[in-house]
Amino acid sequence: MTHPTTASTIRWEQDDDGVVTLVLDDPDQSANTMNAAFIDSLDAIADRVEAERDAIRGIIVTSAKKTFFAGGDLNDLIQVGPGQAQEIYDKNLRIKRALRRIETLGKPVVAAINGAALGGGLEIALACHHRIALDAPGARIGFPEVTLGLLPGSGGVARTVRLLGVTDALLKWLLQGTRYSPLRAQEAGLVDDVVTTREELLTRARAFIAAHPESAQPWDDKDYRIPGGTPAQPKFAVNLPAFPANLRKQLNGAPYPAQRNILAAAVEGSQVDFETAQIIEARYFTELVVGQTAKNMIQAFFFDLQAVNSGANRPQGIEPSQVRKVAVLGAGMMGAGIAFACAKAGIEVVLKDVSVEAAAKGKAYSEELLAKALAKGRTTEAKRDQLLARITPTADPRDLEGCDAVIEAVFEDPALKHKVFQEIEGIVAPDALLCSNTSTLPITLLAEGVQRADDFIGLHFFSPVDKMPLVEIIKGEHTGDKALARAFDLVRQIGKTPIVVNDSRGFFTSRVIGHFLNEGVAMVGEGIDPASVEQAAAQAGYPAKVLSLMDELTLTLPRKIREETRRATVEAGGEWRPHPADAVIDRMVEEFGRPGRSGGAGFYDYDETTGKRTGLWPGLREHFAPGGSGGSGGAGGSGGSGGAAREGTRIPLEDMKERMLFCEAIDTVRLLEEGVLTSVADANIGSILGIGFPGWTGGVLQYINGYEGGVAGFVARARQLEAAYGERFAPPALLVEKAERGERFTD
Ligand code: NAD
Repeated sequence: MTHPTTASTIRWEQDDDGVVTLVLDDPDQSANTMNAAFIDSLDAIADRVEAERDAIRGIIVTSAKKTFFAGGDLNDLIQVGPGQAQEIYDKNLRIKRALRRIETLGKPVVAAINGAALGGGLEIALACHHRIALDAPGARIGFPEVTLGLLPGSGGVARTVRLLGVTDALLKWLLQGTRYSPLRAQEAGLVDDVVTTREELLTRARAFIAAHPESAQPWDDKDYRIPGGTPAQPKFAVNLPAFPANLRKQLNGAPYPAQRNILAAAVEGSQVDFETAQIIEARYFTELVVGQTAKNMIQAFFFDLQAVNSGANRPQGIEPSQVRKVAVLGAGMMGAGIAFACAKAGIEVVLKDVSVEAAAKGKAYSEELLAKALAKGRTTEAKRDQLLARITPTADPRDLEGCDAVIEAVFEDPALKHKVFQEIEGIVAPDALLCSNTSTLPITLLAEGVQRADDFIGLHFFSPVDKMPLVEIIKGEHTGDKALARAFDLVRQIGKTPIVVNDSRGFFTSRVIGHFLNEGVAMVGEGIDPASVEQAAAQAGYPAKVLSLMDELTLTLPRKIREETRRATVEAGGEWRPHPADAVIDRMVEEFGRPGRSGGAGFYDYDETTGKRTGLWPGLREHFAPGGSGGSGGAGGSGGSGGAAREGTRIPLEDMKERMLFCEAIDTVRLLEEGVLTSVADANIGSILGIGFPGWTGGVLQYINGYEGGVAGFVARARQLEAAYGERFAPPALLVEKAERGERFTD
């Protein structure tokens, strides 16, 4: 017999054996979150378990929803103002106190995790003495807080550190935001037991209660030592003074505020008792919640990502579609990756190149990826064989019969692209979706080579395709809504995130990343120490350093794109404005014979045998320092002139960082003005997931919104940069208008 009592979002069910099941079940929402109603309920539950302690044998915490518990209420968190720090701190301590009262009741408490337990959900589970997880499809367990600019503030840091030791807690759980399957969560140490049915979940929870009548948390034993401790450092697992520095190295550059605060909360909290650790955690949590970075990241990684993936940009009223068999034309780097991604999603792939050998080489790429996955236990032999059986390499166009989609990835040459489409258009299904993976060529131009321009669309994947989550969909002038909807569905079918843009040379991503690269190169041309330029990119939060990325892409590519763009601009009657980087790139290629990594030399030197980077080319300082040999050293900047010969130009680090961030943000606003971009969410998500715009900004337009002083503050700073470094920083009209009206960039 059960005696149900409600405490609004937590249901109390008690059986005749004295086992209380606390059922998390918010009546107003599809998922449980740490909203105000939940906090009130938790307090009420803590009061009741204490009052009825003697009648309770044990407690099971589970949920009536599909997920166990979804975490903090992001709608609330994104609105918190800087004046609310005390309120946030007090609320945080209230949650901590209530969980602690249940945890220290002296009765066994078991988390029966029936679905996803992310963030706050995992924290509730960690406040229990034993965690059993149901291996349900899609159930994920982890701390995504760091990806939202936050830290697990409801005891998550303090408890994970105590369970696993500082190093494992930070690297496996707190700093990466990894979402584990229940089995992997068990391997990584935060889940004790995994079951496959709901009944078993509850049976095992009861069995634990029966076997541990006086269960308590290990850290409440006065002799408990944090794992990894040594006799010399009884409470600490790692070399404390060196730890933050090592971690900084591991994170490749400057940690974001959330990473910094998580690190500090973990390290400081490991040196003190549990209650103090919780207070330290509350302070660091509050600092993040009231700060701007968390708002940026919640906006991008929660709200914008949801809008983009849920199809805010997919034309309405068109039936959902699925691709069954895809033709991939060109089995080079991109074609091979696209074939893998499609086959992984269960789509039959015909991979065509000029010879069967070339096509088979493309398929061999999938074999390599799968061999690695198998070695790491990420796939099984059976799954590997099934996936490989879906890829048919060929050189014969007739094998493409029946394909309901085509993705072309041959060389970046419009005539060749026209030719390969002509060759196959009559063979594939009569209504097949026709996609090109061009990274720069206008889709409308490529569509001239096909009969059905309304079914032709750009599908711009990023390299390496298996890792990069974004696909930029480009609508040509004649692309129909149906093709757009089908392209959107195909991208979702293969599990990637689609953004949608209108046609233009370089679209959104290729055009904007070009500004970042050019800005780094321009600084070298001004005589700024190239090592500082690389450091500035890392400090700004870019995942790749600017000159090393330029070398990877090769210096010949921007020259080719520049020439084509120049010709098209002039032909269209526009004014062509050279960039200060142009002269540097030209000299690198023509004068010094350094075309980038694939040519064995670029901004960096490379080892002749291994091909590995050995260091920045010393000639950069010599040839590009003000007064150095020839060329246009100093172009584009007031800081570039007047320096002593071979003595590098110095400009503030902040200027270097902001020159990179601003040039990308400013051109994104121009793309909105030109109608290439039509959605703020697409711009934010595309910039982070596609071209490495730093995640802490919340994306390229959120960076403007969140800049100190808002859009007006951004405009004022752009004008300063314009005066110091050139007219490319002049704020476009749309930006100035927004600033004057006090508006932000929103959809
Ligand atoms: P790649 O040189 O690695 O591969 C091109 C392949 O096309 C080669 O295998 C070649 O044999 C094949 N090919 C040539 N003629 C063909 C024909 N008539 N029929 C079938 N196959 C033919 O090039 P890639 O880097 O894979 O780039 C392919 C396309 O993807 C280009 O349009 C490029 O701009 C675009 N792209 C590249 C990247 C990148 O990072 N490399 C990123 C996004 C998009």
